[in-house]
Amino acid sequence: MTKVYLNKRITPRIAMGHPWIYNNEVDRIAGTVSPGDIVEVYYFDGQLAGRGYINPGSQIIIRLLTRKREPIDAGFFHQKISEAWAYRQQLGYTENCRLVFGEADGLPALIIDKFNDYFVLQTLSLGIEQWKTAIVDAINTIFKPKGIYERNDVPVRELEGLEQKKDFLSDPFPTEIIIRENGLQFYVDIEHGQKTGYFLDQQDNRRAIEHIVKGADVLGAFTYTGTFEIHAAHYGAKSVLGIDISENAVAQANKNAALNQLDHIVKFEAMNAFDVLKNWGKEGRKYDVVMLDPPAFTKNRSSIEKAVTGYKEINLRGMKMINNGGFLVTSSCTNLVNPELFLDTIYMAAKDAKKRIRQVTYQTQSSDHPIIWGMENTHYLKFLIVEVCDR
Ligand code: SAH
Repeated sequence: MTKVYLNKRITPRIAMGHPWIYNNEVDRIAGTVSPGDIVEVYYFDGQLAGRGYINPGSQIIIRLLTRKREPIDAGFFHQKISEAWAYRQQLGYTENCRLVFGEADGLPALIIDKFNDYFVLQTLSLGIEQWKTAIVDAINTIFKPKGIYERNDVPVRELEGLEQKKDFLSDPFPTEIIIRENGLQFYVDIEHGQKTGYFLDQQDNRRAIEHIVKGADVLGAFTYTGTFEIHAAHYGAKSVLGIDISENAVAQANKNAALNQLDHIVKFEAMNAFDVLKNWGKEGRKYDVVMLDPPAFTKNRSSIEKAVTGYKEINLRGMKMINNGGFLVTSSCTNLVNPELFLDTIYMAAKDAKKRIRQVTYQTQSSDHPIIWGMENTHYLKFLIVEVCDR
């Protein structure tokens, strides 16, 4: 196995648990390597850092899989996926969960979402792609699933020299399935839905609205398949309106409302949330609760400012539409806007909206997406509920 020696200055980061090694952090490679090879990595002083896969064509040249001198083989992947499942079960997830959250489960660039008996996989680097068969075998052995599907239609794969694709990794199956969450049911379109089909990362946060929506008129923007809005109706809201720019999402949201027999309370419409918040605000429309769960707004560092401007605008407009003493439920899902910046942005929005805000709850992504301290981008979702009062 080829040995790789690291620069001195990166020791603390790697020693604290960060598994990425950039190509300018390698001191020397003692031997030859092919893309995807497993290599043994050493700190500058000759101490073992671990083993991982290498891709000389990628900016992140090595991603560590283990800190031990252990074999990386099919048995390794079986063991890691079993451990990831045991951890989810320990935390109380029984049916649906992010089974593997990449780096946070010691399996860099691997995502596995478990929708009860169905599994959706993403292999986002060349090094992990090589082990796809072993990973699928492990899922088959551990879970005896009804179906496995790969949602590798993700642009980031191209940085690793991989094609974008989606396909069955099991016998074909009907890819629109129904899952249960918090006593409700939701259609998940594994093949055509966004990302892996469903946002499991908000599943704990959806429960957090239970007490603030009772008897309320609720507006939800960026609703996708209507999960927050249907929860609001289930928890006793008087009326709920969900907005999404995607006709497909709205069609799916309406189906979900009907599936739960809540379509007399919750309605969905395909509209641009920016226009809705602006125009309805001007018209003086008011709600007791406004919920916002926008997409990332930025994919790279250079446009963080643009993202922050977007967050500020929708939150400011949202707050203005809230009846005195009502609530704002607001999220941000990009790791490029850190929690402090997000909370500052909400504060600035309140200031400009001439509102006082009182925090009800602040949460991150659900705990099946663990946060690795020292690896900032594993802490990506911010979820905040505030009470909004006139000044
Ligand atoms: N709350 C959802 C996830 C929302 S994802 C859940 O928990 O499942 C973000 C959504 O915002 C996507 O469905 C996308 O179609 C929608 N979106 C993006 N830009 C929009 C815009 N300008 N107006 C309304 N919706 C938009």
